[in-house]
Amino acid sequence: MSLQQNIAAVRAAIDEAARRAGRDPKEVTLVAATKVQTSDTIRQAIAAGITVCGENRVQEFNAHWADGAYEGAEVHFIGHLQKNKVKYLVGKVSLIESVDSEELMRAIDQRARKVGVVQDILIEVNIGGEASKSGVPPQEAEKLAKLAMQLPGVGLRGLMAIPPVAELSGGNSRYFAEMHQLFVDIRAKTYDNKSSMDCLSMGMSGDFADAIANGSTQVRIGTALFGQRPPMRANG
Ligand SMILES: *Cc1c(COP(=O)(O)O)cnc(C)c1O
Repeated sequence: MSLQQNIAAVRAAIDEAARRAGRDPKEVTLVAATKVQTSDTIRQAIAAGITVCGENRVQEFNAHWADGAYEGAEVHFIGHLQKNKVKYLVGKVSLIESVDSEELMRAIDQRARKVGVVQDILIEVNIGGEASKSGVPPQEAEKLAKLAMQLPGVGLRGLMAIPPVAELSGGNSRYFAEMHQLFVDIRAKTYDNKSSMDCLSMGMSGDFADAIANGSTQVRIGTALFGQRPPMRANG
């Protein structure tokens, strides 16, 4: 299938999952996870209707940005982020989804104020408690959310999670339900005029229908759009 057909098929499956859950399909944003893709592929995806690209690595983001590859779309940063690389993203990406420490949040706030923007962010939660994954433990998310309310340079928009790889279909429903509950709780506790949380980012190629059934407002899809990726490098 062509990229265009893949995008249409994934979008149709998202819409179907939303309707099955009694939700409006418009509530669910499709983010194309573009790691390892070329600038050319990114341009093709945007031409075929992709409106948000999700990037994992600052280096790849910088290269595609310099190429003008994202024209016509927003970019979300979805990978592990080091404090010293914040300067490459703030004010350029519309959402940093992977904020997982107080230090990182403060670095984003400082940079945002320096360049005169409010940077929207999500707090990444390690919902499966896996040592190999980034994200704060669920019980620490509220504290970080409350800090965000005090920092004028960041706008807290919600939560993000990457649950464990599911062995069985439906295997991640429990984690998605826990994330939704956490999202609802923290939203109620942090609501003010500065920001209201409206984004729960969860669901990938293998499990997005379950995520949508459990309240996801944003799915991050790579493989189902672009095909299998070569094996990952450890970091970057
Ligand atoms: C790669 C990636 C995705 C997409 O994963 P697929 O299984 O290929 O759909 C989603 N979120 C993050 C953070 C990723 O790194």
